[in-house]
Amino acid sequence: MAGWPYNTIAWLNLRAAKLSAHPLCEACLLRGRTVLAKAVDHIVAIAKGGPAFPPLAGLMSMCEACHNAKTNAVDHPNASGFRRALKGYDVDGNPIAGWD
Ligand SMILES: [Zn+2]
Repeated sequence: MAGWPYNTIAWLNLRAAKLSAHPLCEACLLRGRTVLAKAVDHIVAIAKGGPAFPPLAGLMSMCEACHNAKTNAVDHPNASGFRRALKGYDVDGNPIAGWD
């Protein structure tokens, strides 16, 4: 994760702004856990056509465990793994209706 845009000042500023606005892992928060965020994740991956510098609402503060879980999930062609990792919520943080 050393390449563009993560090596730009614009990203560092955006990342700092996001962590300052949302210092806790949003994925953990949805499950009632309070964990300090260490990473800022693009909700729509750049590789999937998402903006490199989205508004804060297009980013998600995440702890290392959640970020790794999502990164591993979206690395796969059918990125459904994150839904399993984030049980009951989709990537946007909305509860999945009818989740068993
Ligand atoms: Zn987390």
